[in-house]
Amino acid sequence: MKEEKLRPCCRVKEYIKNKLRALSDKLQRNIEEDLCKEGKVIFGPFHSPGLGMALGINNVKSKACTYNCIYCKSGATSCCSVCCNTCLNPWNLYSCVQKKIDEFAAKGTKIEAIAFIPDGESTLDSNLGAKIRLLRRLGIKVAVFSNSSLLWNYNVKQNLLFADYVSLKIDTVDTQTWMKINRPHIRLDHVKILDAIREFARDFPGELVTETMLISGYNDTVEEMTELGKFITELKPAHAYFSVAAKFLKNGTLLNSDPLQFLNLTDYITRSIPGSEITACENTNYLIAARA
Ligand code: SF4
Repeated sequence: MKEEKLRPCCRVKEYIKNKLRALSDKLQRNIEEDLCKEGKVIFGPFHSPGLGMALGINNVKSKACTYNCIYCKSGATSCCSVCCNTCLNPWNLYSCVQKKIDEFAAKGTKIEAIAFIPDGESTLDSNLGAKIRLLRRLGIKVAVFSNSSLLWNYNVKQNLLFADYVSLKIDTVDTQTWMKINRPHIRLDHVKILDAIREFARDFPGELVTETMLISGYNDTVEEMTELGKFITELKPAHAYFSVAAKFLKNGTLLNSDPLQFLNLTDYITRSIPGSEITACENTNYLIAARA
């Protein structure tokens, strides 16, 4: 069939369109490279218990979170949201990660895991499932750290099921304490979240771990830990990590609490919750001192 000839004005339009497309592609590539270079999207490597040497991925806008935890190291939540948003598209992320892995391999560092661990809530990224599936092609463990708050959402759960390793934050099973510590988005329902965590633990074929932040005056009582311990035991995680909020250590709140009481609490946790481990925060030897 004879090709239809474009009129001169249409040819100009087509030319401008192609130029603009090429320009915007170039601009996007530059932005992506800059984000990767500056460590805004890909950072590390860092050593993580359970994962080894890992590259971190910041896959949501900084401090876009469903929670506004009192101990959050990233500061106050700028966008307390239950809506999805994303940074890099899956293919661009894949190529940036691949480049980083090669760079570190050339320097003699073997990357053992890729961890979605943003300054916000990882599951707010609507492309998370596609990103996990692509990154798994690199033959490296893919981990996701989540605050668990959106697990009741079908798509979020399906996305997480693709991962090899999922870490779920569970600071408390008491709704009043949850409101005080995690300061959730108004649309979130604690009971629904706890049910979704149970269901996820049943269905997830990979390695599940839990993370709990111990905060003096909030969730550091034996009663709190007994209830939380029952819940975590039901989930059968590979590990249940308990740590101490650095912010509270810095401003002295925890140090003002009775060290012996705290030592008894950590001993209680390790004795009564299977797979539990107490991890001290960086910059503190408080736990080590308490155990000596
Ligand atoms: S869930 Fe994580 S990112 Fe969100 S407010 Fe809490 S500590 Fe910060």
